Amino acid sequence: MPVILSGDRVRQVVATLEDTYPDAAPELDFSNPFELVIAVMLSAQCTDVRVNLVTHELFARYPDAQSLASANIEDVESIIRTCGLYRNKSRNAIAASQMIVDRFCGEVPASREELQQLPGIGRKSANVILSCAMSQDAIAVDTHVYRVSRRIGLSDASTVLGVEKDLMDATPRKKWSQLHHLLIFHGRRCCKAHKPQCQTCTVAHLCGYNASRNKSSSAR
Ligand code: SF4
Repeated sequence: MPVILSGDRVRQVVATLEDTYPDAAPELDFSNPFELVIAVMLSAQCTDVRVNLVTHELFARYPDAQSLASANIEDVESIIRTCGLYRNKSRNAIAASQMIVDRFCGEVPASREELQQLPGIGRKSANVILSCAMSQDAIAVDTHVYRVSRRIGLSDASTVLGVEKDLMDATPRKKWSQLHHLLIFHGRRCCKAHKPQCQTCTVAHLCGYNASRNKSSSAR
């Protein structure tokens, strides 16, 4: 059962992660909201590095929603094939572009509710788009944010929505977007799913998971 940290300890965790990862930022390449919608869609079950390789070619050929909306699906599939799930992703990318053109006058909508109407965009992806491309305060809870938050003790919720709410309650609004990046950086580089690197972790002294692990090993 995760241990929940006090407000003071949450502040220490955030400050320490900020010191540890001063360059924490989105790792998907994009230059406007439309590109991020497509990049986020392609990133499902795929690495950001792989997505960046693919979107370079995709956006050179289809630079906006209008051009991707009228693309031939086989052409899109052949460009994004290496991202996995390419048939679904191609269908969604074209359908989302058509919706952006038809329903939102060619502009990516700036509300979560409208973003979630786009095929292939759920709440997490909508939060990424709002925070990274539209300067809105939002915390996107992906697998890293979910795991790291629960291990450290920033949340004891057992749902993605519950973790998102706990993180928003525990931190000031202006920190939400950066906290998302910090937790992803920490999850990818240190607090890995199968082998967390607790010996070298900068927040180990604040972490509930580490405290319970030390407690159970000293009881043996
Ligand atoms: S101490 Fe271990 S479990 Fe806790 S945040 Fe660091 S790596 Fe993750």
